[in-house]
Amino acid sequence: MKKYECDVAVVALGLSGLATAIACAEQGLSVIGFEKMRLAGGAANMGMGPFAVESRLQKKKQLTLTREQAFMHHMEYAHYAVDAHLVHDIFWKSADTIDWLMDMGVEFEVAPYFPKAQWTAHNVIPEGGGRPGPRGAGTMCKRMTERAEQMGVQMVFETPVKKIIMENGRAVGILATGPDGEEVECRSKFVAICTGGAGDNEELTLELTGVVPEALEQFNLVPGIKGDGLKMAWEAGAARVPVHPELGVGVHDNFNHWNLEAAFRSKPELTVNKDGYRFINEEMSEMGSFFGNAVYRQPDHICFEIVDTKRIKDRIKYGPEVIDEVHGDDFYEHFFEEAERSLEEEDFSKFFWKADTIEELAEKAGIDKDGLVETVNNWNDYCEHGRDLELCRTRYMNPISTPPFYCMKMVLQSLNGIACGGVKTNHKLQCLTEDDEIIPGLYACGVDACNIYGDTYDFYLPGLNMGFALNSGRLAAEYMAEELNNF
Ligand SMILES: Cc1cc2nc3c(=O)[nH]c(=O)nc-3n(C[C@H](O)[C@H](O)[C@H](O)COP(=O)(O)OP(=O)(O)OC[C@H]3O[C@@H](n4cnc5c(N)ncnc54)[C@H](O)[C@@H]3O)c2cc1C
Repeated sequence: MKKYECDVAVVALGLSGLATAIACAEQGLSVIGFEKMRLAGGAANMGMGPFAVESRLQKKKQLTLTREQAFMHHMEYAHYAVDAHLVHDIFWKSADTIDWLMDMGVEFEVAPYFPKAQWTAHNVIPEGGGRPGPRGAGTMCKRMTERAEQMGVQMVFETPVKKIIMENGRAVGILATGPDGEEVECRSKFVAICTGGAGDNEELTLELTGVVPEALEQFNLVPGIKGDGLKMAWEAGAARVPVHPELGVGVHDNFNHWNLEAAFRSKPELTVNKDGYRFINEEMSEMGSFFGNAVYRQPDHICFEIVDTKRIKDRIKYGPEVIDEVHGDDFYEHFFEEAERSLEEEDFSKFFWKADTIEELAEKAGIDKDGLVETVNNWNDYCEHGRDLELCRTRYMNPISTPPFYCMKMVLQSLNGIACGGVKTNHKLQCLTEDDEIIPGLYACGVDACNIYGDTYDFYLPGLNMGFALNSGRLAAEYMAEELNNF
């Protein structure tokens, strides 16, 4: 058996694990991180960037959102059913964390994700320059890994942790398995669990969230993230807290149909269920997690978006009304070309249709014909009079009147890297038992401990997942250092 000893054993070197490890080392603690994969950064390698409020970069842009406003917004959003102290501390630390990362050489661009969102996302400018976008945050993970090395953090890769060693009710180390199958033991004063939830474990996620499996056409799996940390924490005595699903709505096989995905995802197109009836003010579909909740409630958990040719031509001429950070702004220009190609594809033709009449469109898509005709007639009437008498929409009201008409069946996705929480902690990130007793020596950070959203991820404050991962790690490190002084 290979043996190690240190002050802090960090279970996993994803985003929160890296933050915890670096911050502990900066506090003078000896740290060893055990990571299952060959690379640090976890799901954050796939993302864009973290939340912060009142950062230097926001101030430079004259953005006026204050920490107090963000805090009050979030607490109301979560119906006060979350730990106010933890939310407070995460928000108050967030600006300093951006400085901390900038000192490591990370560069950011501040952005919202959609029109009603706040400008809290600090999207990472990828190495070598270029536009921030998906996977851009990989550069942040790289800089953090370099910083961890510089600070003397020992990083042990391809070594999944299997168990927390508990003695007399205290966490005193971990057991893991090395790449060659050798057993590994690390004795430590503290253990920080940072394994990122259960994003690659469909069964556990469904069990925890209660989402019915047939609702999900797509599981956005996060390789290697199997719920190990949750299980180890519960086994060590930490209480379970409910895990809420992060649902999103997108286009089937989106990476191969990027312009159609851009044109339909989170855009205000007429949206109906399979009975042909509207169920959401389409302006709200830009808030992906609300849209996901609404679609989940529909028959078969699906919905359809409908556009007419005039609308697409107008958008080509005048530009999109809604531009999001992920898809850029030139997607309508490629709409017709990609639509024609996609209509010919055997698989995709089960999700996308074109027709010259609404009746024909309904038939092809499998939507109730009478319901859809009634809805389109009503909708066109609302557009003519400028008032949506059903669902109060006020913006982007274009009739469905110029054939050919296009219909996209939208599918429900589980954005699993974002299904949050599961381990009960206090605001110091110390794990708690069912009776709210602190489990000495045991901390949890990042997704495993992210119980701050209530029932739905707060996309109004974009970047909050990475924000939580980074800041919970830094906070936990400070508390461990404080505890060590009193050891
Ligand atoms: C595609 C995608 C895009 C995203 N974009 C954004 C974004 O732009 N902004 C944002 O705020 N959030 C985003 N997120 C969410 C964000 O990336 C995560 O919330 C964040 O990375 C969570 O940090 P974490 O440390 O908890 O988990 P992770 O960063 O996922 O790290 C978990 C680590 O645990 C390791 N691990 C698991 N089990 C073990 C074990 N037994 N032993 C050792 N190691 C183990 C894994 O290999 C992994 O490295 C995105 C997520 C995805 C999937």
